[in-house]
Amino acid sequence: MNALTPLSPGAVTPVSGCSTTPVVQERGQREVFCGLTGIVWLHRKIQDAFFLVVGSRTCAHLVQSAAGVMIFAEPRFATAILDERDLAGIADIDDELDRVVGRLLERRPEIKLLFLVGSCPSEVIKIDLKRAAQRQSRIHSPRARVLSYSGSGIETTFTQGEDACLASLVPVLPDEPANAPHSLLVVGSLADVVEDQFARLFDELGIAPCTFLPMRRATDFPPVGPNTSYVLAQPFLGDTSRALEERGAKRIAAPFPLGAEGTTLWLRAIADAFGVSPELFEKVTAPGRARAMQALSHSKGMLAGKRMFMFPDSQLEVPLARFLSRELDVEMIEVGTPYLHREHMAPELALLPEGLRIVEGQHVDNQLDRCRAARPDLTLCGLGLANPLEAEGMSTKWSIELIFTPIQGYEQAGDLAELFARPLNRRTRLEV
Ligand code: SF4
Repeated sequence: MNALTPLSPGAVTPVSGCSTTPVVQERGQREVFCGLTGIVWLHRKIQDAFFLVVGSRTCAHLVQSAAGVMIFAEPRFATAILDERDLAGIADIDDELDRVVGRLLERRPEIKLLFLVGSCPSEVIKIDLKRAAQRQSRIHSPRARVLSYSGSGIETTFTQGEDACLASLVPVLPDEPANAPHSLLVVGSLADVVEDQFARLFDELGIAPCTFLPMRRATDFPPVGPNTSYVLAQPFLGDTSRALEERGAKRIAAPFPLGAEGTTLWLRAIADAFGVSPELFEKVTAPGRARAMQALSHSKGMLAGKRMFMFPDSQLEVPLARFLSRELDVEMIEVGTPYLHREHMAPELALLPEGLRIVEGQHVDNQLDRCRAARPDLTLCGLGLANPLEAEGMSTKWSIELIFTPIQGYEQAGDLAELFARPLNRRTRLEV
């Protein structure tokens, strides 16, 4: 179906794919969540951090309704709501913030890292949260560290919240010690179970020391410096990547660890950077790769030959399109992405079907017109578009689900394929 190198467990023949394909730029109305959404998964990842949104009731509703169902302990996020007096500039915002933060840290001694998270309203009235965080850090050090970033929805998409959060952490990471050995830093939120699997594989490959950002505990800041090689586990971390390079770290270029092939290529790029022998690499990765390929075969019957359309939402779209087209023989009609980081995506673009239509940005009406005209078998889109398209008889997959679900690595490859097969299965059953 796609004129591409077939998936092979060993080497993947270099192909040019979409490396030189012109990317269509689109600007218009967008349908995405804002960066506050990142709090939903970040607050579960960094277990002693707290996210204090400085925003409006709308922001509070968004975070509460997105994360509320996942609370299993006392919440580690809240919103300091800006009222009319704040918006009119009558109240002293610095005093109010000092009071709110002081009360919070007094009541919750387990909080070691506090993020002040900016929003559209705090940006519009130009609250300097960076300065506020520095002041708060001075007041509460060493009891807690206070950082800030923006989750504002003005011209951003929801995964940029994680990028902004991690970028705010980079300047406070400790310097690696003098004569530090070559170390690996894996960057991007992964479910704990996935992180543990990768840590085991790195251990078996003899790659150490190995750390992860974000870290699970605020007290475990990973060190960084010129002997650090970092690899992105998520494709939406442009600012974090830049900040790490300013600290001297070097990026390992690789496709993202989605699917049997994607995981193998990601691990192999890391292994090559650390001089792991091909024999050891094969011995360590072969069992997981075989399990992944076996698991993928379950969904391949349902997905092979299906036509798919992707709206821009999470920035995972390009790696997902590579995975679906190469490992499951899905035919991609259009791949939309909110932003395309050409450099970070180069290994992915090289593996996409040649001539594929890639659209950066969004003009939602135009995209809807194209999607309706194409009548794909499956559409990947945001929550706001899914229901109307389902009502028109189209099968959809919510792209945000792919952020909340563990999908990286060999052991999750089958689940990832299943996420796409499920809506098709459901429709087939409904039609019987
Ligand atoms: S940050 Fe902006 S887009 Fe996000 S909930 Fe608040 S007001 Fe809405």
